[in-house]
Amino acid sequence: MDLSDISPPSEEVQRATAHALASRITASLAKSVRVDGIPIEVSLSIGIALIDPRVTATPQAMQQSDIAMYRAKRHKHSRIAIFDVADQCSELETYQLYLDLMAAVRKQQLQVEFQPIVDGNNNILAVEALARWHHLNRGMIPPEEFLDLAQKHRQLGVLWEAILRCSLSDFAALRQGIPGLCLAVNLYPTQLSDQHLLQLLDEQLASHDIEPQALTNEITERAVLEATLVMRNNLSGLRQRGVRISLDDFGTGYSSLTLLSELRPDEIKIDRSFVDVMDKDPYVQGIVVLIISLARNLGISLVAEGVERSETLKILAQLGVEKFQGYLFSRPRPWQEIEPVIHPLPASPQAPA
Ligand code: C2E
Ligand code: CA
Ligand code: CA
Repeated sequence: MDLSDISPPSEEVQRATAHALASRITASLAKSVRVDGIPIEVSLSIGIALIDPRVTATPQAMQQSDIAMYRAKRHKHSRIAIFDVADQCSELETYQLYLDLMAAVRKQQLQVEFQPIVDGNNNILAVEALARWHHLNRGMIPPEEFLDLAQKHRQLGVLWEAILRCSLSDFAALRQGIPGLCLAVNLYPTQLSDQHLLQLLDEQLASHDIEPQALTNEITERAVLEATLVMRNNLSGLRQRGVRISLDDFGTGYSSLTLLSELRPDEIKIDRSFVDVMDKDPYVQGIVVLIISLARNLGISLVAEGVERSETLKILAQLGVEKFQGYLFSRPRPWQEIEPVIHPLPASPQAPA
């Protein structure tokens, strides 16, 4: 909008004028739209940047209105937000981080490390690929942070594709030395509703010459899973190909048991928040026993994650768990440093720092 003829020039009036136009636009979409007779609710979020075109260049103006739009999306009541330089410094920083992330994806700067999953004899059965991003100025950014950032800007698919490509090519190299090795990759629940999931997976598996049976998709329970038709199609497509489904962080989500019946996973990963304290807390150990017997009754395979101490390993093995993952065996490492037989750390009262 050109607000230059507001006189006298007042930011307050400019904001009100811009807001009024945005309100009219949102109001025009307040009615549901009918497609083939089916009413569809459409919602609209508007971000506004008030700029002086002599001072602010177009890319900055776009950036500011984009930030304001994401703010509008998060807001419960208002669907309209106006960018404020003063109180959005941290958002600008986050936005910059997001731009850096997308640049890193384009330049193929994301990496993966692998953490072994071992059996009771310390043989490596599989590796879990964990994404790593080394930011030029800020150093290592935790995967949860940059994945959330991508999720927020609806770019998870792009990021996942980059991580998958990197995981599969490193894994293909690693597997040369360890035949029969399997690979676990992480998937956000929302990605299960991605129409392109199967096609992308097929292309990438084929280009790295990896058979689908060697792949497990770990789906975290921490985020909400929407049971859509696409998701069901994807799940059955994955099954048909022989890709395994694992329910990650089991016991920490809002609806563990609903998810269990929705996903029918091949594997459950007992979350490390249980594993970590079970040797000291009989109550938590009771929960782990329950998870183990649940898995056994349903014929689901189990992995205990976050195993840091040999005491924990001993108890888990006595309870019948057969697959383990954790710092006791190995931290996540680049593929060149992974060995077929893992030597666990010697028994120690305290976990390594
Ligand atoms: P996760 O899938 O539960 O992965 C295991 C995390 O626990 C990893 O953290 C690993 O370094 C850490 N860990 C493993 N063993 C131990 C242990 O014995 N003790 C402790 N304290 N920690 C242990 P990381 O790499 O920081 O990843 C954090 C989370 O970020 C992952 O949790 C996963 O949810 C997510 N993530 C990482 N890479 C990806 C990815 O490529 N895609 C998706 N969707 N999520 C990813
Ligand atoms: Ca995982
Ligand atoms: Ca986990």
